[in-house]
Amino acid sequence: MERSGKQVSPAGGLFPDAAGESARGPFCAVALNRPVRREFTYVVPPRLSEGLLPGMRVAVPFGRRREVGVCVAMDVSCEIDPKRLRPIAAVLDREPVIDLELLELTRWMASYYACAWGEALAAVLPAHLKSERGARHVIRVRPAPGVGSKELSSLEERWPQQHRLLRTLLEASGPLERRDLLKRINLSLSPLQTLIRKGWIISERILAEPDELLSAEPRPRARPEELTEAQAAAVGRIGEHLTSREGRTVLLWGVTGSGKTEVYLRVIEAALEQGRGAIVLVPEIALTPQTVGWFRSRFGDVAVLHSQMTHAQRLAMWRRVRQGECRVVVGARSALFAPVRDLGVIVVDEEHEPSFKQGSTPRYHARDLAVVRAKRCGAVCVLGSATPSLESWANASAGRYDLIRLDRRVHGGDPPPLQVIDMRQEVAETRSPALFSRALITGLESVLERGEQAILFLNRRGWSPVLWCRACGETVKCRQCDLPLTYHRRLERMVCHACCEEQRPPRECPGCTSPGLRFLGTGSEKIEDGLAVLFPGIRVGRMDSDTMLRREDYERTLAAFGRRELDVLVGTQMIAKGLDFPSVTLVGIVSADSALHLPDFRAAERTFQLVSQVSGRAGRGDLEGKIIVQTVAPDHPAIVQAARHDYEAFARIELGEREALGYPPFGRLIRVVFEDADPTLVRETAERFADALFDRVAQAGGMLLGPSEAPMALVRGRVRYHLLIKAPIGSGALTCARKGLIELSAGLSRPRVVIDIDPVSML
Ligand code: ADP
Ligand code: ZN
Ligand code: ZN
Repeated sequence: MERSGKQVSPAGGLFPDAAGESARGPFCAVALNRPVRREFTYVVPPRLSEGLLPGMRVAVPFGRRREVGVCVAMDVSCEIDPKRLRPIAAVLDREPVIDLELLELTRWMASYYACAWGEALAAVLPAHLKSERGARHVIRVRPAPGVGSKELSSLEERWPQQHRLLRTLLEASGPLERRDLLKRINLSLSPLQTLIRKGWIISERILAEPDELLSAEPRPRARPEELTEAQAAAVGRIGEHLTSREGRTVLLWGVTGSGKTEVYLRVIEAALEQGRGAIVLVPEIALTPQTVGWFRSRFGDVAVLHSQMTHAQRLAMWRRVRQGECRVVVGARSALFAPVRDLGVIVVDEEHEPSFKQGSTPRYHARDLAVVRAKRCGAVCVLGSATPSLESWANASAGRYDLIRLDRRVHGGDPPPLQVIDMRQEVAETRSPALFSRALITGLESVLERGEQAILFLNRRGWSPVLWCRACGETVKCRQCDLPLTYHRRLERMVCHACCEEQRPPRECPGCTSPGLRFLGTGSEKIEDGLAVLFPGIRVGRMDSDTMLRREDYERTLAAFGRRELDVLVGTQMIAKGLDFPSVTLVGIVSADSALHLPDFRAAERTFQLVSQVSGRAGRGDLEGKIIVQTVAPDHPAIVQAARHDYEAFARIELGEREALGYPPFGRLIRVVFEDADPTLVRETAERFADALFDRVAQAGGMLLGPSEAPMALVRGRVRYHLLIKAPIGSGALTCARKGLIELSAGLSRPRVVIDIDPVSML
């Protein structure tokens, strides 16, 4: 396709010297949401020049299409023949939708994360503002009345995609939003359209409804009369940073229950008193009505931004924040970009959470960007965690962040004891492969006897993660992806958790045709069933992404658990954080091992965090809590130190290993992933990149590793290779490698090249 707008200059040199003698008439630079790392110059026709400012959206011709972009600079000079430039078609705003502060932040983001400015801006703008006519409705789909198992089974053999679709809809407790449904089960529109034509599925456009989270009754959190000594000290010190407007970052380190949330609330009160605003980032899963209620009950009108809101709802919220009607914003990752005026404080709760990193372009880390945004606008940034990321810990140790510690729980008492069960020994002693150790069974028995509640955590959904052939030792894998299929018993299907494809469990090994296939390992579905067998009549709720199709399901299950209509809650990450139920006295981690063996240098850190975090769910009330951790690696430092509640010891050990290998926080990483259906193209391109960069990176003090197959070497039929670049802090290697990568990948349409700065996923 021909490029219509002309390049200003590669990103970074946006404002070329006024040398272009041929430049005539005002030009402006426009950032477009395209994977091209530069802005485009357009002519501003006289009738539009009045009042056009940076930060306003414009419609521009681009190739044969018309696109919406953001004007990022006015009166730029132009080095090329202006006759080849095209004029902007329309100015879409009367005043800038992106103010200068956010404009500069997105520019920084684009240069740091090596994406286009327009791509960074697209992360900031509500979807409605990204097209000229934003839709005001959502499309929902549901099964037609009377459609059920008969229709479903007729699709089973020949139309697996339609089958998957209809089944998911029949399982749901109500209509699902089309966009979410297709994304969740990884299907295109066409099987859905076929089912709609058949009359089996009904699709309806509805005006966006008010969000249940927005209208939820605030669940108050009483404002304590007095702060604890540690809290008061923390609020005082953060208050000083707030007033100084120096843009400081604070690491607030305190175990669960130490009163961090109350500190956030007080600091926000102080910011509001100064006429300033606040942003609170929490992990998506922790964005429950409970959390929102705490902030609402204290501050009244609080804007909530989360991923399941419709576009219209987001836009409405965004506008209210922009106009200053709402000065406190609570939300997941992208709420960082809320256009809060005169920002006083940014809180990042559970700052160690990997979900703050965005997994698609722009691949920003919301915690790191929060630090940057706060610094730029003189706000104080508060990073809170019981188990800080080692990056933040290192920053605090080096004095770059102010470390503030809350070292005791508000209501006193020691954190609940943690009992580690060696499952190898358990199996040896009981001579049977146990799902639940004897200690866990005894613990559950007494919980049930006393009418209390328990939470069982397992980081895997489905029944069993592996189907293994005894004869040849192979596991049954997805045909599209290099990944074992998970058995889902209720569906009677093997499901690929990468691409959502399904198949019937084979009777014999697809490799060697031997019939000796065995299920290995445990998923949440098996735990649920296991409980029912052991404790007849037990009331179990399961929360994982299989059972929680709608946000309402999540809230309903939690509410039922809160009313004590359930004895045990079984779940995946979904239940690891934020839940605060006083009558939970037992928490069982069914297997702490699943994260430990991932090919990721953060595997130990994640395991430590997970065990600590899940443990925090017990003993929140007056009752004694108990935690049981089942593992086959009881001597692993992550488990040993988590059991001792000793974060510092863990950090010391882990930092030693990281330093030896040059991993963060001692070095920065760039991960480059190459993906294509053509394996040769992928390998050769990866090698070409490596050859071109190896010496340059080394000269700048860094190190290039690879290329090699990615741990997930095949996904959806595409072969994946990756490169890793290690850049010691303070060396120029990061900048040098980033520049080289941008040059090498410019204009390359195949294979797909993903440049991930400060990667979080190593798969
Ligand atoms: P964290 O966020 O560190 O897990 P919270 O702020 O949620 O801790 O506090 C834990 C519990 O203690 C909550 O129930 C909260 O209402 C209560 N709490 C916090 N600060 C105080 C205080 N100063 N006085 C009395 N109760 C408090
Ligand atoms: Zn076999
Ligand atoms: Zn797959």
